Amino acid sequence: MIKKNNIDIEFILVEPSHPGNIGACARAIKNMGFKKLALVNPRKKINEEAFHRAKGAKDILENAVIFDSFDLAINEKNLILATSARKRTIQWPTYFVDNISDEIKSQMKSEMIKTGIVFGREDNGLSNEELQKCHYHLIIPANEEYSSLNLSHALQIVAFEIRKIIFDDEINKIEVRDVVSNQENEKLLEHLMEVLKKIDFYDPKSSKQVKTRIDRLIKKSRLDKMEMGILRGFLSKIIDFEK
Ligand code: SAH
Repeated sequence: MIKKNNIDIEFILVEPSHPGNIGACARAIKNMGFKKLALVNPRKKINEEAFHRAKGAKDILENAVIFDSFDLAINEKNLILATSARKRTIQWPTYFVDNISDEIKSQMKSEMIKTGIVFGREDNGLSNEELQKCHYHLIIPANEEYSSLNLSHALQIVAFEIRKIIFDDEINKIEVRDVVSNQENEKLLEHLMEVLKKIDFYDPKSSKQVKTRIDRLIKKSRLDKMEMGILRGFLSKIIDFEK
């Protein structure tokens, strides 16, 4: 298992279809020294085939956490990385998996940060909505004409690259900010929307895009706890003032 204590990295599979793939992912996770597997609405139960493919990583399968929504799976996370075979139309900070920024590397290595690495469905990957809920996108460079790897192969490569980061003591530890969790960002979004409605800036019926764009803005900012406290305090004052 990963020697560096308290590094918290979870591999999250969204609606996987093939139990065999889930088993192979469990094996890849354990081979690379990680422990945590989460499944969002797996289309089939973890069965004999999954255990067969997991081989010596049965413990990872047995301890896999199952969520019934994507939001629940990422709620507690402070750093969420989505893997995607294709460049999408939406602009989003994207890294090749072997060229992740030093800031993200340091965050992954920090005990303060819970990282989730998200993998999509075998047939159609992650939805745009799911991708937009993640902070960064990761791509495994591959043949441009056929870039979509098998789910467990993709996870194996990503886990290998992250293993190198975790064990590389040369990586400068940039001071890691205590960035808030996804859940805290969601609360800020609701608070902000409440204020915007109150001051008649926002009408949910006519401007649906506003909420999505503000959500994106909050996620891109990677707010830390202090910044979050200031913003929430500020919004509460506006609400009190309006009363
Ligand atoms: N047909 C789907 C790909 C599904 S492959 C699509 O076009 O989106 C299943 C999952 O494996 C993907 O959602 C992604 O999480 C991962 N994956 C496969 N190939 C990848 C690549 N080249 N880079 C990053 N992730 C990849």
